Amino acid sequence: AKSQGKAGYQFFSQEMNQVNMRRVALENGMRQGLARGEFYLYFQPQWDLKSLRLTGAEALLRWHSAEFGVVGPDEFIPIAESCGFIFDLGELVLREACLHAVEWGRFCPGLKVAVNISGRQFRQPDFLETVARIVQETGVRPSSLELEFTESVIMERAEKNVHALQALKKMGMKLSIDDFGTGYSSLNYLKHFPIDAIKIDRSFIADLVTDSDDAAIAEAIISMAHSLKLKVIAEGVEGDAQLDFLVERSCDEAQGFYFAPPMPGEDFTGYVKRFSVA
Ligand code: C2E
Ligand code: CA
Ligand code: CA
Ligand code: CA
Repeated sequence: AKSQGKAGYQFFSQEMNQVNMRRVALENGMRQGLARGEFYLYFQPQWDLKSLRLTGAEALLRWHSAEFGVVGPDEFIPIAESCGFIFDLGELVLREACLHAVEWGRFCPGLKVAVNISGRQFRQPDFLETVARIVQETGVRPSSLELEFTESVIMERAEKNVHALQALKKMGMKLSIDDFGTGYSSLNYLKHFPIDAIKIDRSFIADLVTDSDDAAIAEAIISMAHSLKLKVIAEGVEGDAQLDFLVERSCDEAQGFYFAPPMPGEDFTGYVKRFSVA
């Protein structure tokens, strides 16, 4: 038993080493990747379900590494968070999103671009100044920006965050809660934060039509949000039946493969021209 335990331990530690080696390699590769321009944004359209109008897009970060191929944000964002690289990356995301918002705003006023903000980025002491500086440098209209925070990020330092979020609102930005329903069970925070919208996590949308629990949760989120005068955005909408369900229950907006997958900025320019009613 003893030797088995030892062999098991060695196997485990070898596996751990491989995971760690990839981690370290990606961590180093990221800095080079940034310098080489390997990071760029994709944009996924968001639609208003009542007016059937295009409202904007969520910016989603992509990394096409010369060394590692395409690396997904679910893998590299947590690494960037833990090594602090998220600060540089977050600035790139904000700046690129603002520049695109300016471009699209020229022929489609009112179009908004949603940007994901990570916890460590938000907690950085000069986050507000960074946002203000990028807004100024790019000349973006703050009302065309929507910042997405997860519940856990908002709750981490609740009192401090109220002030930071209020400052962002004061600048004119929209604020939304991402992945709603997957984090904190307390809903109390919703009334204390200056939030405009909540995004129903796609884990509830996926089986909406076949799973009555998911349907009940989605329905409850929509009606609660509306009672609190918050807008509701459904993410991960893939089919007709999901869309019908959401329209019937007055969900405000939706995004997902049903409408379009995330696409390069140039493609979204074409998409805006095709679908926006000027
Ligand atoms: P998220 O914010 O929940 O983004 C939505 C994810 O769902 C995206 O994955 C998107 O491509 C995917 N998706 C969209 N429509 C559908 C659909 O109909 N079906 C399915 N199955 N999936 C759909 P992606 O682009 O891989 O991003 C994953 C996560 O990485 C994001 O989840 C977000 O948490 C994070 N992320 C992405 N870009 C950024 C960024 O610029 N900054 C930060 N901090 N995080 C980011
Ligand atoms: Ca998001
Ligand atoms: Ca989400
Ligand atoms: Ca997510």
